[in-house]
Amino acid sequence: MEKIKMSTPLVEMDGDEMTRILWQMIKDELLLPFIDLKTEYYDLGLEHRNETNDQVTVDSANATKKYGVAVKCATITPNAARMTEYNLKEMWKSPNGTIRAILDGTVFRAPIQVKGIEPCVKNWKKPITIARHAYGDVYKNVEMKVPGAGVAELVFTAEDGTVTRETIHEFKGPGVIQGQHNLDGSIESFARSCFKYALDTKQDLWFATKDTISKKYDHTFKDIFADVFEKEFKAKFDEAGIEYFYTLIDDAVARVMKSEGGFIWACKNYDGDVMSDMISSACGSLAMMTSVLVSPQGYYEYEAAHGTVQRHYYKHLKGEETSTNSVATIFAWSGALRKRGELDQIPELVNFADKLEKACLTTIESGKMTKDLALITSLQDPTVLNSENFIKAIRETLEASLS
Ligand code: NAD
Repeated sequence: MEKIKMSTPLVEMDGDEMTRILWQMIKDELLLPFIDLKTEYYDLGLEHRNETNDQVTVDSANATKKYGVAVKCATITPNAARMTEYNLKEMWKSPNGTIRAILDGTVFRAPIQVKGIEPCVKNWKKPITIARHAYGDVYKNVEMKVPGAGVAELVFTAEDGTVTRETIHEFKGPGVIQGQHNLDGSIESFARSCFKYALDTKQDLWFATKDTISKKYDHTFKDIFADVFEKEFKAKFDEAGIEYFYTLIDDAVARVMKSEGGFIWACKNYDGDVMSDMISSACGSLAMMTSVLVSPQGYYEYEAAHGTVQRHYYKHLKGEETSTNSVATIFAWSGALRKRGELDQIPELVNFADKLEKACLTTIESGKMTKDLALITSLQDPTVLNSENFIKAIRETLEASLS
């Protein structure tokens, strides 16, 4: 069989620990035998980040701007323990944070649904994709404990010296206060990424805030979304037959629970934090969640939603067998290859990505799976495979579907 040709390289961001081991197995078993794989390789493994003073992370993000599509392996975000373990020069920042800041993107996360691992919300037939605004609000807040009676005020001093004040509260005794902010520019980028991704994936977009209570702050989010939609996306949504739907956050939660799924739910920063955990736990496993960073300019970075699976890596180092689920990492590759195929008009690549994903699902549905899934499946007597044999089983299914 002739290998599928690519015209533009994918930006390949290698990573750490167990996912780095899976990364190589996936390439060897599931990609290189079938594709004339073109990538521009960046080693984001912690050792190399440390050697390059983290320049490699910045370079990989800039390469994503150049080529448009990246695929990333999970990486360690250093903490005190990692400083010692890897003898680091500095506590380097989270690569995901660095890349997101350079690409100005929004992260979209969706569960990978498969027969045998049904969501505990029975009516969710299709995945619900969460888009989380990754800037501001409570995550960039300023807070104060109020020791006793006094007046708390919001004060804004404009560049020309004009002062605007609002009383927050006249305290009669101790309490707490908190200041939050967001930026019109960041909200606009978030809105554009969401509308763009909805068009890309032909799914409705829902957005919700508490604008009836927060008449200026949350209302600004609502207004900016409405404005960007009317000016830039309404006609395209009509043409694609998809809908933009705004409602109050409490109404959205009630509707989500009763829905069939199959839409994108755009969330403010805090809502996204909470709701993405609700969706992932309702759908079974962190190892079955995809994640893609989409910038308003149309750059895409695909990854798994989980981390480096450190515990399994230490077992692997001791020569013990692991049963690590590679599905989310395989979907990162298939997502990136599909996008590359769409942009470069290579239908064989798009078709390959579809078949690779289908092969993962068919393999699991046939009862062959990793331990994390075997523990939660409704299938009788699943066969638990180790990390390598699971990938080999997917290869067998894939080969059968390609021949
Ligand atoms: P983790 O996602 O690696 O693991 C959390 C739990 O989920 C573990 O109990 C693990 O056994 C299980 N799990 C996760 N993925 C699995 C898989 N594919 N198969 C089977 N089980 C799986 O998160 P963690 O342990 O909190 O973090 C480990 C490292 O990963 C840390 O250094 C952290 O900085 C990093 N991390 C990276 C990313 C990223 O690059 N996107 C995200 C989160 C954490």
